[in-house]
Amino acid sequence: MLRVLRSSPLAWAVGLPFAYAAWCTTATVTAATAGAQPLTDSTALLLSRLIQANSSNPPGHTQQIADILGPLFRARGFQVDIVPTPDSAKVHFFARLKGNGSKKPLLLAAHADVVGVEREKWSVDPFAGVIKDGAVYGRGAIDFKGGIAVFARAALLLADRKVPLDRDVIFLAEADEEGAPMNTSWLARQHWDKMDAEFALNEGGWIIKREDGRVQYVSISTSDKRVMNVVLTAKGTSTHASMPLPDNALVTIGRALAKLGSYETPLEFTPDSRRFFETLAATSDAASGKLFTELLHGTAAQVSAADRAISRDALLHSLMRNTIAPVIVAGGFRSNVIPGSAEATLNVRLIPGSDPEAFVQSLRTLFNDPLLTVTMASAPAAATAASADTSLLYRALAAEAKAQWPEAQVTPYLFQAGTDAAAWRSRGIPVFGIYPYPISNDELRRMHGNDERVSVESLRQGTEMLYRTLVRVAGSTAGRSR
Ligand SMILES: [Zn+2]
Repeated sequence: MLRVLRSSPLAWAVGLPFAYAAWCTTATVTAATAGAQPLTDSTALLLSRLIQANSSNPPGHTQQIADILGPLFRARGFQVDIVPTPDSAKVHFFARLKGNGSKKPLLLAAHADVVGVEREKWSVDPFAGVIKDGAVYGRGAIDFKGGIAVFARAALLLADRKVPLDRDVIFLAEADEEGAPMNTSWLARQHWDKMDAEFALNEGGWIIKREDGRVQYVSISTSDKRVMNVVLTAKGTSTHASMPLPDNALVTIGRALAKLGSYETPLEFTPDSRRFFETLAATSDAASGKLFTELLHGTAAQVSAADRAISRDALLHSLMRNTIAPVIVAGGFRSNVIPGSAEATLNVRLIPGSDPEAFVQSLRTLFNDPLLTVTMASAPAAATAASADTSLLYRALAAEAKAQWPEAQVTPYLFQAGTDAAAWRSRGIPVFGIYPYPISNDELRRMHGNDERVSVESLRQGTEMLYRTLVRVAGSTAGRSR
């Protein structure tokens, strides 16, 4: 059920026709009646509908997202193409608006699946698409159904306003980004022709707003960290629990994990992550700004102190170094048997440029335990170069972000996790990432968490900004000069 509350500033924020706006502000709209109304008149209402289509992965049903988007794009002359996968729940949705073909396409990639919820920890139904207090609540509001809504609305506006295009604009709502294997890597192997482009936009950087609502910075991701899993295996003597021995496999695993608990990987910056921290130095309050400056330019003691202080923020900590997270421990099967082996899985996120083999070797050196073997269980994807900020798409996005939020600084960004960008970056195609709406740090923490939400006004601003970016990148020169 979608509730549009009386107090919501929704109607004025999204510029609905007056009659519909008046009806919205006085009505409780059920999902059933919502389907008959022109809900797509606004990004917020489209997002609300998308949230109601529960695409939690697993199982990650994305056909229902295609069912919502299909009619919108077809009605405006887009070529719609729904690509099934061997998993019947998961489809990829393409909508292509044809340009004159003089330039290669621009692609917008937004994943249609979301992660699951701890429902009891939410203050609202996470799959009701609730709009209240000026915000849309629900799983995926930020990651990444809000992105689907902004990307889709901006692309649909190109058709509504009959903008002449030099290149095709391809909108893709893809399956299985939060899982695998039916993700964009699968799609690229099967249907590269549908997704080939000069450059692409996806999720990634942030538009962070201060407590007073002004935007502090806009970060546009140009590369992602790489993921690998490392398994620790301890072997010991399997015997009766009444006669313990010093080589207990569980103790060996515990010793290794305890070492990790007091270990910190060294600082490592990429050129783009260094620019990101320079931006924080320039846009933060005096005390924080001093810390960021010392982190980048201080003496060894200042760098170390700044690192410790800044690392209290888990996101910033993860941007400065390779990270190691123990995620699974396995061993033992009954209380009177000492198991002969035990295992722990470490999820490792590597800064671009780090050598995975060398990293595993550094862990062996750290543990220095003959009872323990350290192996790479899943290798990271091949290294890719960062997408260059000289690209037309980066420059256009940066310029329009600056036009939308003049008070903000714009910076390239290293994304702390993995995204669907690898499918393009590994083929040499630049991908730039942004969650295209201003959010606060508190809202950022709700991503993949509880009461995930994004403000209606942020969605409106993001749609404006992105629409102008598309016009700048894909609009024909002739069309622009009129
Ligand atoms: Zn995401």
